[in-house]
Amino acid sequence: MKIIYELYGEYYRYAINSNILEVPDQIRYREIAYGYKNKVDNRNLSFKSEEEYKRWVLKNTPFHLYKSLAYMRYPSNSGAKNKEIFRRELAFDIDVHKTESCEHGDDWICKHCLNLAKKQAQYLIDEFLFPDFGLEEEDIKIVFSGNRGYHIYLKPRDENVREIIEKYGKEERRVILNYILGKNLSLNNINSAWRRRIIKELRKYKISIKGLKNERNWNKVLNKREDREKIINIIEKVKKFLEIDEKVMEDDIRLLRVINSLHGYTGFIVKDLTYKELKKFNPLKDAIFKNFENKSFKIEIKEEIDKIKINNKTYSSKSKKVSGTALLFLYGHGVKFNLIS
Ligand SMILES: [Zn+2]
Repeated sequence: MKIIYELYGEYYRYAINSNILEVPDQIRYREIAYGYKNKVDNRNLSFKSEEEYKRWVLKNTPFHLYKSLAYMRYPSNSGAKNKEIFRRELAFDIDVHKTESCEHGDDWICKHCLNLAKKQAQYLIDEFLFPDFGLEEEDIKIVFSGNRGYHIYLKPRDENVREIIEKYGKEERRVILNYILGKNLSLNNINSAWRRRIIKELRKYKISIKGLKNERNWNKVLNKREDREKIINIIEKVKKFLEIDEKVMEDDIRLLRVINSLHGYTGFIVKDLTYKELKKFNPLKDAIFKNFENKSFKIEIKEEIDKIKINNKTYSSKSKKVSGTALLFLYGHGVKFNLIS
């Protein structure tokens, strides 16, 4: 559908002219991937310069656009071994499922699941990255994924620290993941940070925390208590709160969406946010390209769809007029419709 390409083209012209489209650092060492029908139709692309990359984006207006987290000597070679990776960005990918409050199909979105994604991003930052890792707002990059998730990059201001962590191998990145997911947590020896996290949750359930705060060996305390099982269940719940795509942190060869590109399923902006902005951020309003909202398309939707509220307008199967973003959302979700004008 020609109009879809035109809308992507319009957005990319804007994003490049206003200099917000991410140009991956040291572009010649990064792999670029893109897709139209699928998330990734093609990968192993590389560009020698920023200009060449931008020209390509403007010409091809991909619906999905990715860069490798890794820096590699030969980004256009296929197969991890042939690429010769020498450095890699670290990022967490929070990607949530639909919630119990959602009233839609698996692929659809609403304020409930979008809120959960945001809550998880805030939890990762406020519970781990700031207090446990000693990072500050300026050391991380927060990006809305364009769908039901967030990408949180670790970008310490201190170049030496950044150099060290970006040279980490798979095993070292796994250690970080294991810590955050509480995978090696032992009740015989819990550090103060994990005690703090669990105690916070126990308090919500009004469970006595007597003797737990300053004790590393919780088994010793819990074995004497009748509510041991209940506490264990809550600990498991705390460990499972974050829905992290582990491969994005772990795998050497991993792609992540280019910041300020558009997400091909939703037509929303893969938007970077400050820590402050995240608090008020509502993707259904704030991740939308405003120029698309000034456009109106007459359509006829040919199937039953779940409702979706974009920029305060609710769309359903009965909608006859949709904005540019809504058109991209329907198209991206494979909804059958006729474009009338
Ligand atoms: Zn939902």
